[in-house]
Amino acid sequence: MNKTLTLKASRYLNTLCNETGNRSVGSSGNIKATEFFEKIVSQSGWSIEKDRLDVMDWLPGSVSLTVNGKNFTAQASPYSKGCSVEAVLVSASDIDELEAADIESKALLLYGDIAKEQLMPKNFVFYNPESHRRVIALLEKKNPAAIICATGRNSSLAGGAYPFPLIEDGDFNIPSIYMTDIEGDQLLKFRGETIKLQSTAVRVDSKAYNLTASKGDAGLNRIIISAHIDAKKGTPGAIDNATGVIILLLLSELLSDYAGEYRIELTPFNGEDYYGVPGQMDFIRKNEGRFGDILLNINIDGAGYYEGDTAFSFYGIPESFRKIVIDEINKHAGVSEGPQWPQGDHSIFIQYGVPAIAVSSMWFTDNMEIQDITHTEKDRPEIVDINKTVKTAEILTEIIKKSSSI
Ligand SMILES: [Zn+2]
Repeated sequence: MNKTLTLKASRYLNTLCNETGNRSVGSSGNIKATEFFEKIVSQSGWSIEKDRLDVMDWLPGSVSLTVNGKNFTAQASPYSKGCSVEAVLVSASDIDELEAADIESKALLLYGDIAKEQLMPKNFVFYNPESHRRVIALLEKKNPAAIICATGRNSSLAGGAYPFPLIEDGDFNIPSIYMTDIEGDQLLKFRGETIKLQSTAVRVDSKAYNLTASKGDAGLNRIIISAHIDAKKGTPGAIDNATGVIILLLLSELLSDYAGEYRIELTPFNGEDYYGVPGQMDFIRKNEGRFGDILLNINIDGAGYYEGDTAFSFYGIPESFRKIVIDEINKHAGVSEGPQWPQGDHSIFIQYGVPAIAVSSMWFTDNMEIQDITHTEKDRPEIVDINKTVKTAEILTEIIKKSSSI
């Protein structure tokens, strides 16, 4: 193991998780993180493109909810407007009830079936089921004064948080809060009564940057290596996804003298964990009509967990190149082929027909349904095995150097 690289990787982890502050899009920590990225990769001679994104930051404030003198525990849905509402409590547990209910100007409690999985943000284009869009459209049409969401745990779709926010969408303008399903069952007893709800959450206009670091002429076919740099609010985001960014930073050094046949772009996407995915949308806009010259995407998200193997999964990779990659990972203990998983930025490339490799931790794909780490404060530097980030960067360097058969 390369000791100098290991030391650097540890320093990067400390910077991204302990020094910048939370890296949610639009926060000051997010800006510090992109500045840090720019500084490190510039040292190895990469050219930087820096696109400004106009985004919303958000302050959670506090929530007070009372009915008949009884207090309930709840928090503002991320990116929701604040509110001050006195209204009759009504409820809906599925779409038929929602359709039938008279909810205009009332306080609407969503619980049970309809609150089982996080509703995709209105303008999220990559995956947005009809059933979600129907719920959102109904809510906007019927216009309740506020929405109270009672949720359980849904690790595979909403990370490890309990309760999880049913609504997390800065483009949705009805104020909402969320609470545990247990608290929701108690609140349900007060249907028909008047509740008092105060939320001091505030939306704040802010900015962020989406970067591309490149090496090689603009006319060459491209390999894009990506790792989202943003994190959810409330988490240090060590595995999700400081480790991915660290691997990009190590690659910037390991590939500093790359002079092969491709243009290499290192892309710290800014927005994977943010409702509007602004960095990804920026990337798509810039690359519209140019996806054809991208031969390969390598996306790193969730790598470096201290337990289990580092997992490489494959999407549309030509067999000859896949064999080269498999031969490379077989040289290393603790690295293996993992199952495909769709929830990551590699899905953008797959949708455009670009072959992709995703790098993650086997433990997370194995425990997707039950883990309580992702998007919580448990995602700390202590759960990272820094040697795994160095090993992954070294393997990826070898793969890039052998990539002429893609
Ligand atoms: Zn992630």
